Amino acid sequence: MTLDEKVRKTLAELNVADAQGVEVLFAEVRAAMEAERQDLIACGAASEAERDQLCKALRDRWLARKNGLLSLLDENWLKAAAKELKPAVGRRFNELRKIATGLGFDELVRAVPVRHQASFSAGAVLVTSSPLEKQASFAADAVLAGPPDLTLPGYRRPLGSIHPVTRVMREIEDIFLNLGFAIETGPEVETVYYNFDALNIPESHPARDDWDTLYVDAQTVLRTHTSPVQIRAMEKHGAPLYIIIPGKCYRHDNPDSTHSPMFHQIEGLAIDTDITFADLKGTLDFFAKKFFGEKVRTSFHPSFFPFTEPSGEVAISCVFCDGQGCRICKESGWIEVMGCGMVHPEVLRHGGLDPDRYSGWAFGLGVERYAMMKYDINDIQLFYQSDVRFLEQF
Ligand SMILES: [Zn+2]
Repeated sequence: MTLDEKVRKTLAELNVADAQGVEVLFAEVRAAMEAERQDLIACGAASEAERDQLCKALRDRWLARKNGLLSLLDENWLKAAAKELKPAVGRRFNELRKIATGLGFDELVRAVPVRHQASFSAGAVLVTSSPLEKQASFAADAVLAGPPDLTLPGYRRPLGSIHPVTRVMREIEDIFLNLGFAIETGPEVETVYYNFDALNIPESHPARDDWDTLYVDAQTVLRTHTSPVQIRAMEKHGAPLYIIIPGKCYRHDNPDSTHSPMFHQIEGLAIDTDITFADLKGTLDFFAKKFFGEKVRTSFHPSFFPFTEPSGEVAISCVFCDGQGCRICKESGWIEVMGCGMVHPEVLRHGGLDPDRYSGWAFGLGVERYAMMKYDINDIQLFYQSDVRFLEQF
């Protein structure tokens, strides 16, 4: 039986026949009254209008002249009490009326907090459903809501960075752009003619073997070097020609710490009248000092490439041991960094240039190798694994 039902019955109907029973009954009423008041104070109101409405409802529930709980209690418990119980009931009833002054409208309004939704100073705003609509606990009802706090710091979007291979490629490009070279590019899917024939690589050359070249079909390959662009640029621009050719190349290599089926090259080509090997040496020595540091020395050794004659390998004094000999330079003090040579007359002819009038030099280097030397990276595969822990260091 609820309190509301109890106050509509007489003490006799509630089987309360002695002072002790009266005590217990009034204790229950006081507890209910205090609990309802505390609930309202704890929950508060979302606005002053709501607060006033809630306070009036609670006041009326207890103190209304007609059908208020105290009026019903007066009628059914006190007035209808048996003669011998009246003093006890009267005493408890008077106590209750005194306590009930806390349920007056003004008293409640003073006690119940209004939680303004528009309050910025409070940060997050606690909004609860009305305590009279819902009897669930304050904590369980609490939800975070309200307008955004404009004083909070914003979200920081992490910035990406330039890939080390791209970074080194741009660095090399910049050195040659400052020397007056232009950048030239060409297709990665290339014809056999541009990739081999025009570059004086005969069908018998081992580089045309399946193991080195990825064929798309009998006449089409994924270019094995950036050199085909030499021919394309000669055809397009004629001479004089000062270009560098950065780009991707493909070879039938198994991936390991120094090989990758895809890698980057930069090719250099200078064609003019009266170009000599001295121009080649001077330019590449300048480049090596710009890229690796002024202390670096260069050394040229004879070599062979089908598209240059004479051909050479360029070595720099080891940047790790200063030429003293270490594990990286295999105790030699020198590191090979590129291939080079004077453009073969046959290649000039394929490019539509007269080898009796024009001469030129060319070089080719692997960008990954330069990036590995510059950043002391020992595994070429790290460049292609897209591991952010590796890439975010650059
Ligand atoms: Zn060394």
